[in-house]
Amino acid sequence: MARVHQRVANQRADFLHKLTTSLIKTHDAVCTEDLSVKGLARTKLAKSVLDASMGTLRWQLAYKGQWYGTHVVAVDRFCPSTQLCHDCGVKNEHLALADRLWVCPHCGVLHDRDLNAALNIRDEGLRLLAACPAEGLNACGRAVRPPMAAGPVEARIPRL
Ligand SMILES: [Zn+2]
Repeated sequence: MARVHQRVANQRADFLHKLTTSLIKTHDAVCTEDLSVKGLARTKLAKSVLDASMGTLRWQLAYKGQWYGTHVVAVDRFCPSTQLCHDCGVKNEHLALADRLWVCPHCGVLHDRDLNAALNIRDEGLRLLAACPAEGLNACGRAVRPPMAAGPVEARIPRL
């Protein structure tokens, strides 16, 4: 039984390493949502969150981003990425977790919930990245790297 568990763990680690390395090496910037993985692990979504190794995924993206010079931006978890219509920007506050597809009440566009959220996270991440005045500085002009770290761009840029 222990060997079976070890095999599953190895497969999961192998998948995550291949995925994060591929994302970092093939993109100039990767935008993620700054989810509270520990908080989600205490909800009814715990099994899904822990099975997906979200914390490990974000950690690997952050350090591999520094290795390869890829911007990794964490968008604030309170950014309403799911509720905002990607086409017109109107916020749909009546969206329930079960609504996988929804129609914007303002412009009438049909949205896939996850795709719409991903597009909003990408746009917000790129906006934050553009607001960063220089590499290694955050939007307020403060250094974002630990003093001894020599390498490309910081993993997290605070929300303005
Ligand atoms: Zn709309």
